[in-house]
Amino acid sequence: MFENLSDRLEKSFKLLKGQGTITEINVAETLKDIRRALLDADVNFKIAKKFTDDVKVKALGQDVLTAVKPGQMMVKIVKDELAQLMGGTFTDIELQGKPAVILMSGLQGSGKTTFSGKLANMLKSKKGRHPLLVAGDVYRPAAIDQLKVLGEQINVPVYTEEGNMDPVKIAKAAIKHAKANGNDVVIVDTAGRLAIDEQMMNEISAVKKAIDPDEILFVVDAMTGQDAVNTAKEFNERLDFDGVVLTKLDGDTRGGAALSIRAVVEKPIKFVGTGEKVDALDVFHPDRMAERILGMGDIVSLVEKAQEQFDEDEAKQLQKKLQKNTFNFNDFLKQISQIKKMGNLKDVMGMIPGMGKALKGMDIDDDAFKHIEAIIFSMTAEERENPSLINGGRRKRIASGSGTNIQEVNRLLKQFSETRKMMRMVSQGKNVQRMMSGMQ
Ligand code: GDP
Repeated sequence: MFENLSDRLEKSFKLLKGQGTITEINVAETLKDIRRALLDADVNFKIAKKFTDDVKVKALGQDVLTAVKPGQMMVKIVKDELAQLMGGTFTDIELQGKPAVILMSGLQGSGKTTFSGKLANMLKSKKGRHPLLVAGDVYRPAAIDQLKVLGEQINVPVYTEEGNMDPVKIAKAAIKHAKANGNDVVIVDTAGRLAIDEQMMNEISAVKKAIDPDEILFVVDAMTGQDAVNTAKEFNERLDFDGVVLTKLDGDTRGGAALSIRAVVEKPIKFVGTGEKVDALDVFHPDRMAERILGMGDIVSLVEKAQEQFDEDEAKQLQKKLQKNTFNFNDFLKQISQIKKMGNLKDVMGMIPGMGKALKGMDIDDDAFKHIEAIIFSMTAEERENPSLINGGRRKRIASGSGTNIQEVNRLLKQFSETRKMMRMVSQGKNVQRMMSGMQ
């Protein structure tokens, strides 16, 4: 995401290279370039102008710090301003009500139903809540089925009333149902239309009035750029929603919606959708997003994602195995599946500082591990537990069984044995630097 904008901003910072301090004259070109980069990313022009004006005031007002080069200082100022533009700090959703009621709004196709499922899944698995999903899109039977399928997948109940065409009644009955059944969060999905339409607005306003939700979220497709901002404005005027959910940020979005929405509607972005799968959901941290846009990576989110997958008992077992040198291909498979659980591989790797740029244009997808897994699956149970058994004949068999070739099998075996060696040394506290130099 935001690859182009990241590149363009980086180029504009380079214009300051070789300058001793920031002056009104030498910063002018950089600011012009930043503004152009923002406009090309589909940021609203008024916002882009205000942004560069603010950056200019900050940059010229800085005391001359001899230790920091003007280019670096500019990066810092732009990062802080980008974070500010997107809302400054993270804003959570309101879940105080008993049950807490969350109302979804947005156009058809924006990702409301998908997000409802993702949110229910997140609240259930990370916050220990007991959500109830409510199918309030009475016009599209397919939407009701879609929610039912999602509910089944994540094991969350879905409240439906087949044939009832009154979303207000359905929503009220669902809350009653939740109270009676111990559901502490009610997520009401509603009908959208392809474009803003009076009937839809009246209907969702009536639902809002009837159920008095703790949180109204407006869901919008980030790929629609400035249209997303305009739609947000109209929904906000009618509904006075509490937060925005930007979906499809995994796509080729230029970033304009993410950067402009907050400033236009003065409501925070609370979540971003990063894929079609039910766990492809991130809470939105403006400061971290700003760092990602500037190619600084997002190490905090990466560590958090890793921690979510981290199981202390398993880690201890792994440590023991490493020390005894019994780490085998079954453990290796487990590690791969944990990495895969962290989400879209390119996104995960993009969080590593400096990696975003290196990955640009590269075709990394979640199939990256497919060959490795196929090779391991083609090993016998014995071979997986005791890789030293894998001689020439066995390698040939594994290669043909996995649809790969002998070179790939050899490469994996070599990588495996090096990984094992390295992990063992780390777990024994050996000097890592010495070990790395030994490996070259
Ligand atoms: P609704 O009409 O607002 O309920 O929209 P849906 O939830 O049915 O979503 C419309 C389409 O967008 C579906 O094909 C979803 O799989 C897809 N979708 C939703 N969220 C995301 C996302 O974050 N990333 C991607 N790539 N697709 C998404």
